[in-house]
Amino acid sequence: MTIDGRRVSGTDRDEVVNPASGEIFATAPRCSKAEFEAAMAAASGAFRSWRRDEGLRRAALLRAAEIITAHVDELARLVTLEQGKTLANATREVNGAAARFRYTAGLDIPTDIVHDQDAVRVEVGRSPYGVVAAITPWNYPVIVAAGKIAGPVRAGNTVVLKPSPFTPLATLRLGELLQVAFPPGVVNVISGGDELGKSMVTHPVVRKISFTGSTEAGKHILAASVPDLKRVTLELGGNDAAIVLGDVDPAAIALKLFWGAFQNSGQVCTAIKRVYVHERVYAPLAQALTDLARTVRLGDGLDPASELGPVSTEPQLRRVEELVADAKAAGGRIRVGGGRVGARGYFFQPTVVEELSDDSRLVAEEQFGPVLPLLPFTDVEDAIDRANATPYGLSGSVWSASVERARAIAGELDCGTVWINQHLVVVSASPIAGHKWSGLGIENGNLGLLELTQVQTVTLPRS
Ligand code: NAD
Repeated sequence: MTIDGRRVSGTDRDEVVNPASGEIFATAPRCSKAEFEAAMAAASGAFRSWRRDEGLRRAALLRAAEIITAHVDELARLVTLEQGKTLANATREVNGAAARFRYTAGLDIPTDIVHDQDAVRVEVGRSPYGVVAAITPWNYPVIVAAGKIAGPVRAGNTVVLKPSPFTPLATLRLGELLQVAFPPGVVNVISGGDELGKSMVTHPVVRKISFTGSTEAGKHILAASVPDLKRVTLELGGNDAAIVLGDVDPAAIALKLFWGAFQNSGQVCTAIKRVYVHERVYAPLAQALTDLARTVRLGDGLDPASELGPVSTEPQLRRVEELVADAKAAGGRIRVGGGRVGARGYFFQPTVVEELSDDSRLVAEEQFGPVLPLLPFTDVEDAIDRANATPYGLSGSVWSASVERARAIAGELDCGTVWINQHLVVVSASPIAGHKWSGLGIENGNLGLLELTQVQTVTLPRS
């Protein structure tokens, strides 16, 4: 761990499993109470001077980007080992983390003059909160951590960050590497399980919580924030729909649609979780997706031939198996896939399911795995209603030969991100702002940066 600029090995350890083998390959520190208090004290102590010099902060973020870029291979390998995704995808993730620091360095935090007449001038500025508790999930450990460090520290806050106990290693290494860029105490990275997360969100020095993870944990965190009125940003789960209109060329969109759903073995908050397909193109599109699922190369992420890695954790594999069993019991037809591959590791065949109703579990819940339900429609109004009929509202996509038509439908989807004729195309400037159960507040982009500040109105005499 990294606490107050120092390496801390801890005494207790948690095991880390490689999902490609199912075997323990490393251990990570389990943060003790004393280490936890030291991290909070360090972040609190560093805040006073860190908030003062914006130029220094911009420079530190640029330096952080350079350091990550210089260690891409090392960090990407750790991500693949602990999380399972292919090395190519892990490399993209780590490069994306560097890009996030670079982009955030260049953002401006405005001061607005809202009144400037007679004897009075009123400036509306932004100040940092203080200590930010940042908690991350296991699906994109490095890029999510990068977002949760870059934004807060750019705004003048200090951070105590905890990765998921399933994927602590790349994040711990990131925290260590970043010490070259930041003064001691500005970026602290500790590791441990859900209990450590619970201690973080109730700690008295924390003024802001930045959480990415499941909706269930997000609700607990919001409730836990109430007694101290801590500010909270939540990026949570989704059940994202793609709507495919009858005017598309199925052969032209199938590959993009496939990777929109199966990227990172479906373990992307904003991945396509269900596809509504116009009946006119249903048969050829279903066949094209089935063919892709059958031919995609599943394997250890470290093997350059692999296109898709395993499911990341054993509990997640169990959940995927359970949802597929439920889909079969509910009358679903498995077009391709449907089960585990081999006895070693957490590999699950890319699976396409049809003939399910919207209230079956695979359609109604967030599967977060390589299993995709296809649902035909005849009337697009019906497809929009069905896409919106979920407590989630993270993202969605619309696919059509007419971008204009798709753009109009996008406006009717109740979700924070909509893609047209693509899915999962993410740039650093894009804010994430889940609707309904998918989140609270905004992360990333300039709006996300402003969420890491609080408004301060200063009224001055005019000279
Ligand atoms: P999770 O909620 O189980 O755990 C996430 C993190 O929170 C871990 O570090 C965990 O230790 C910690 N935690 C768990 N319970 C806590 C509590 N009560 N208080 C404080 N900390 C707690 O989620 P996960 O299984 O790691 O991740 C998968 C979920 O994350 C999916 O639902 C996915 O959609 C979501 N996700 C959302 C986004 C987004 O931007 N919206 C991005 C990635 C993942």
